[in-house]
Amino acid sequence: MSRDVPRVGVGVDVHPFAEGRPLFLAGLFWPGEDGLSGHSDGDVAAHAACDALLSAAGLGDLGAQFGTADSRWSGVSGCTLLREVAVRVRASGFEVGNVAIQVIGNRPRIGTRRAEAENTLSEAAGAPVAVSATTTDGLGLTGRGEGLAAIATALVVPESSSRPS
Ligand code: MG
Repeated sequence: MSRDVPRVGVGVDVHPFAEGRPLFLAGLFWPGEDGLSGHSDGDVAAHAACDALLSAAGLGDLGAQFGTADSRWSGVSGCTLLREVAVRVRASGFEVGNVAIQVIGNRPRIGTRRAEAENTLSEAAGAPVAVSATTTDGLGLTGRGEGLAAIATALVVPESSSRPS
């Protein structure tokens, strides 16, 4: 089995809305929107991206890497987590190729701040991160406005094959 080929990974995250909490999504603060509950800032987009990168590099998932018992990561921003995940992926012998995230939900309207979100997350990952969004036509937990979901894929490239020969 060759380790010398690019590898893809997948990640999904879901958090319920929580009245009175600030919304952090795709690395940005969204004033005037209901926030998401969770152990951290609830940034489903950043968390899905982290899980996709860890999956691609064979490093498990956020729960395995940043256990809820470890107080260092309590309340940490999704961007900070993404930055740390990229460090760990590189330390395990991969370069980050790219990450694609799709946010699923009714609000906020991602398109109004897509470039800002992509710049912020790309800076954290040290690689291109694309952000898109969709709705579910009123179906399911996101359609009923109970929360937000995100799905992400990531590509990582073994260092040995990303170096010029
Ligand atoms: Mg999460």
